[in-house]
Amino acid sequence: MTEMNHILLTHGGAGSKNEHNDGTQLAGEAGIASLKSGGSLLDAVCRAVAALEDDSRFNAGVGSHPRSDGSVQMDAAVMDSFGKFGAVAAIEGFKNPVHVAQAVSQTRYKILAGSGAARFASEKGFETLSPGQVTAKGVDFSTGDTATDTVGCVAFDGKHFAAGLSTGGIGGAIPGRVGDVPLIGCGLYAGPLGAVAATGSGEAITMNLTAIRAYQMIEKGEKPDQVLSEVLSWFNPVDDAFGLILVSRDGFAGGSNRTMAWSALQS
Ligand code: ASP
Repeated sequence: MTEMNHILLTHGGAGSKNEHNDGTQLAGEAGIASLKSGGSLLDAVCRAVAALEDDSRFNAGVGSHPRSDGSVQMDAAVMDSFGKFGAVAAIEGFKNPVHVAQAVSQTRYKILAGSGAARFASEKGFETLSPGQVTAKGVDFSTGDTATDTVGCVAFDGKHFAAGLSTGGIGGAIPGRVGDVPLIGCGLYAGPLGAVAATGSGEAITMNLTAIRAYQMIEKGEKPDQVLSEVLSWFNPVDDAFGLILVSRDGFAGGSNRTMAWSALQS
């Protein structure tokens, strides 16, 4: 077993450019700084994901890809090995949906969607984001490019695990479409033995129950690299962009069938 104190992995999504790993690195550093200043592991994950949401090169927060009608609808989720889970789906008008998802995890509810999620976020005073402030970069929608590149983070503090995801969804999708991100066990999962965060074609990720099945491999004793290569094999690289980061008590792994900016930070 690898000895680790803190480990935090961040990804900029399947399809994000490898050279944008300065953004995933900075986000990871923000997460580690949060841990060092006494924040919880979930706070660190949210801090890292929020930094990625604030980086317009990635498809989340300010970089969210618009829907077919020009609206910007975002999904986000958080989970930790204490059993906390919270998510928002198709939320509009907020800068950092991951913070709203964390706030949902502190209520009796698990997923809030659409206008109800926005009303909840507004009542909690979260920072807003108007459609005019969204400045998605790196995708040419005029060519029909529907690149995905959600952002995510998994972390381990030597005892506990946490995971977070945030996305603008698939660019050009119909309004109301929700992918894997807010669905527990699809885009993400965290339990006593590890944390998993996926990215890519949300419909395929959902139908494969990807994150919970990856977690179950960890439970069976598979090493992170084995889990990664098996899970990658479930996705047809021609049709389905896919990427994964995961951490267990045995180490970590990350990879994609596309390019993918990702970083691993240990402290
Ligand atoms: N999985 C996300 C979705 O389908 C997109 C992505 O991860 O790139 O909404």
